Amino acid sequence: MLRITLPSQKQVSPVSAISRVAIIGGGFTGATLARLLALHGRYRPHEIVVFEARDHLGGGLAYDTDDPSLRLNVAAHRMRAVPGDPQAFVRWLSDSGRLEQDPGAVVSGAIYARRGDFAAFMAAQVQPFLDDGIVRHVREHVERIHRHRGRWQIEGDAGAMVQADVVVLATGHPAPTPPDVLAGLSGDPRFVRNLSRPDALHAIRPDDKVFVVGAGLTALDAVAALRNRGHCGDLTLFSRTGHLPQPQAAGDFAPHGDFLIGVPNTALSLLKQVRFAMQEVTQAGLPWQSVFDALRHQGQTIWRNLPLVEQRRVLRHLRRRFEAHRFRMPPQIAELVACERAAGRLRACAGQIIAVQPGRDQIAIDIATKPRGVIERHIVQRIMVATGPNHGNVIDSQGCLAELEHLGLLTKDPRGLGIACDADSRAVARDGYPVEDLFIAGPLARGTFGELTGVPEIAAQAERIVQQIVAMSFATTRTITIRPM
Ligand SMILES: Cc1cc2nc3c(=O)[nH]c(=O)nc-3n(C[C@H](O)[C@H](O)[C@H](O)COP(=O)(O)OP(=O)(O)OC[C@H]3O[C@@H](n4cnc5c(N)ncnc54)[C@H](O)[C@@H]3O)c2cc1C
Repeated sequence: MLRITLPSQKQVSPVSAISRVAIIGGGFTGATLARLLALHGRYRPHEIVVFEARDHLGGGLAYDTDDPSLRLNVAAHRMRAVPGDPQAFVRWLSDSGRLEQDPGAVVSGAIYARRGDFAAFMAAQVQPFLDDGIVRHVREHVERIHRHRGRWQIEGDAGAMVQADVVVLATGHPAPTPPDVLAGLSGDPRFVRNLSRPDALHAIRPDDKVFVVGAGLTALDAVAALRNRGHCGDLTLFSRTGHLPQPQAAGDFAPHGDFLIGVPNTALSLLKQVRFAMQEVTQAGLPWQSVFDALRHQGQTIWRNLPLVEQRRVLRHLRRRFEAHRFRMPPQIAELVACERAAGRLRACAGQIIAVQPGRDQIAIDIATKPRGVIERHIVQRIMVATGPNHGNVIDSQGCLAELEHLGLLTKDPRGLGIACDADSRAVARDGYPVEDLFIAGPLARGTFGELTGVPEIAAQAERIVQQIVAMSFATTRTITIRPM
């Protein structure tokens, strides 16, 4: 028997062996990728380098907080962060003693843990691999990613320079973009344009009236964080619809609705199927949340089945209502919101901002309210933007991503949801072909996959990316066996 090893027939990949993988961003997505790659034993890369300026891996924008009022939006047993071990977080909460130290965590039998505890859990998941040197944490923000002699060269903002065979972009959520009408406030210290900055709320005085642009979960985080700091002034949550996120339902229930039989292929047929499922659960006395849980579980298949034009229609017509039901508030926040509304200290208001006039001591905001267009004037001391991340703008928000786009190696998602990638999570280049050694991970890839915001879905995508990377080591050489006749 004769064994011959031939060079790979793959033309795009410059990879000769996967010796180093660089992961850009060490939030939940980056940390999960690093851990799963490290677990691949002798098939893993020699080194996994994670660029992340934060002190610890795993927290990211979503969970890197020590504010105890900020809780996970879903129950701990649904945070299936570790593929193959769905109860890992619940077990860790109990074993680490964190649950005991958090008497407010359990509501109606379910644990809604502090977000900072989830960050600590994730950091603990990666720590063994940092200790043995398989994963290296470079505490720098990446400024440049480019090709150098057939490999990637990644440059940090404090001088780190790393060469890698594969790059995974896991830079997560970009900052929100304030509406144009607020442009006159730029540079005004009373205008908080990015709530994720650690000092964002420091200058707010306890009785300041605050106008919050946005009424989703980010806005509710701001409400909880302000009240936790002793703020007691009036709060207005402003949005186009005035809808606040819905609460989680108490108790455990199964997802309801099978959208995979006759998968909808238009926005309208999807809406009809959802309405039908809602009627069914109402008649059966089940919580409506069960339908949105089913939509979430089947979301990637539903999304994939919709043509691009229908995906855009979903985003245009159904997105806001869907998100208010899909991204729900934990019971602790629901209770706070109910109390604040009942006391008249928190109001939601719908419409369009038509003018903003900053004065010496206060800011006047004119709103054309919905539904009748009556002009309402709000006089406040502070305005903050809580419209959520602007994924449509993500490439322009970072120099390293903009440079990759300039090189033709990265393109915007055609639905405005982040970065374009193929079904294998590979970046789609300007010529329309996938870049074999550049992956897009986490919410950045939402345009292709649809449902890719929650922890379980991200963990599943990370696992698929890791399998692709491991498979690439084998794809560089082909061994064929010629059997004697
Ligand atoms: C406030 C909030 C709460 C959430 N709560 C829940 C929840 O309860 N349950 C749930 O399932 N999902 C929740 N999510 C969804 C969340 O999207 C995912 O769970 C997940 O955290 C996304 O992780 P990520 O690492 O992709 O992004 P991020 O959390 O945004 O982290 C990205 C990281 O990349 C780093 N980075 C960015 N650019 C660079 C660069 N150029 N160089 C180096 N590093 C860089 C950033 O510093 C950041 O740490 C929440 C999201 C948010 C925003």
